[in-house]
Amino acid sequence: MPSTELRQTVLSTAKSVVVKIGTQLLTTEDGDRPSLDAGFIRRIAKQVALLRKQGRRVTLVSSGAVGAGCVSLGIEKRPSDLAELQAVAAIGQRQLMTEWHKAFSKYKMAVGQVVLTRTDFDDRVRFLNIRNCVNKLHELGGIPVLNENDTVAVDELRFGDNDLLAAMTANALRADALLLLTAVDGLLDEKGNVIDLIDDMAAYEGLSRAGSSKWGKGGMSTKLEAAKRVMDAGEVAVIASGRQEDVITRVLAGERLGTVCMPAVRKMDSRQRWIALTARPSGTIGIDDGATKAICERGKSLLASGVTQITGRFDRGDVLLVRSETGKELARGLTNYSAEELRLIMGKRSSQFRKVLGNAAYDEVIHRDNLVVLDPA
Ligand code: GLU
Repeated sequence: MPSTELRQTVLSTAKSVVVKIGTQLLTTEDGDRPSLDAGFIRRIAKQVALLRKQGRRVTLVSSGAVGAGCVSLGIEKRPSDLAELQAVAAIGQRQLMTEWHKAFSKYKMAVGQVVLTRTDFDDRVRFLNIRNCVNKLHELGGIPVLNENDTVAVDELRFGDNDLLAAMTANALRADALLLLTAVDGLLDEKGNVIDLIDDMAAYEGLSRAGSSKWGKGGMSTKLEAAKRVMDAGEVAVIASGRQEDVITRVLAGERLGTVCMPAVRKMDSRQRWIALTARPSGTIGIDDGATKAICERGKSLLASGVTQITGRFDRGDVLLVRSETGKELARGLTNYSAEELRLIMGKRSSQFRKVLGNAAYDEVIHRDNLVVLDPA
């Protein structure tokens, strides 16, 4: 589908949208010291209120806690000490929410603060609860404003950047679109022109530069990774400049702004999104060519006879990454066996391993219903 048509059919009809706003946009260097840009925040609120009138739901993912906290404490650069970062974020998060509250009160809209860590998305029940909570906030007429819970996040609990948090939120909510607002006009080609449309992310990886702003995390490469997660789920993502006037309402009217990342043909359901694109795998298994063909080409379950390698510690019900003999990522799925059990039965047929494990054994290591092939032929 060409970009103009896609923008019209997908973006102008999108009912539920996640909008991520980076620190660089939320802070201003005007005046003696940089601080939260109340004018910018008001302009976002105005657009969100307008969209609400059109019956559309906007969920905001707002960075800026660390930046705001540093500024008010006179700290010159993003702290590298974990406790300091957490403490600064605790102060900044409150300031950030005050600004959002002030901006939305003009429209009599209450803001709801939702702060999350990476582990909230690893757990299936919590993943579903995030969706329920955010949806309820909308039903109650509120505006959910999400951020990473920087105050408790230590490395293994971290998203690292809000681009990823926004993509996972969009997938959890089954939002129709993700809009990543940044300080540049979109993904730029070598000549500096905005790329209008991306359908295969792999072709553009070389164009993204790493690097983030003074207070925030993430850069164009994390935006592309985030966009890919949403594309893979079957929804659209747009990377656009938050400095363009009325960018949210214009993008959602189908105007040609920013870079549109095309949705994959397959639309994943909620369970598939969680298995394939959200939960972090607890272990990896390698499988032989026969099993690869069976799961990738013939739509079969994964059997123990095809398993050749096991790494990691996992229990029944955990998400596993499945790799081919050459190491290619093939699929993700929920295992019926723990790592210890699987070590006993790998390479064996079920008639052989029933003796080892007793009659409670499952034929499948990963049942087809719990398996998502990542790149179906
Ligand atoms: N959660 C961080 C903050 O509020 C921002 C992370 C990011 O820049 O992506 O400061």
